[in-house]
Amino acid sequence: MGKLKIYEAIVRGEKKLLFWCKACSSNHSVDTDKIEWNGDNYTPTINADIKIISHKNIKCHSFIKNGHIIYLDESEHEYRGKKIELDEFYH
Ligand SMILES: [Zn+2]
Repeated sequence: MGKLKIYEAIVRGEKKLLFWCKACSSNHSVDTDKIEWNGDNYTPTINADIKIISHKNIKCHSFIKNGHIIYLDESEHEYRGKKIELDEFYH
């Protein structure tokens, strides 16, 4: 079945998708209301870019496509400009 990469959860009453961001060493979440995704937890694609300011106050800007995360150049961490496979999400 592969690795679980996107996890659906209710956080403070809102539906979220959670994934592990290797660059920030933390989970990131996106509101399911604001994006569309392909409904696949193992090979996710999300049709919007994801902009996060991490707990370290670092900008993390990415796309998720076919189970991979593509970090845009304006990200402020070592993975900027890189595409890597999403890690498994442990919950
Ligand atoms: Zn991140």
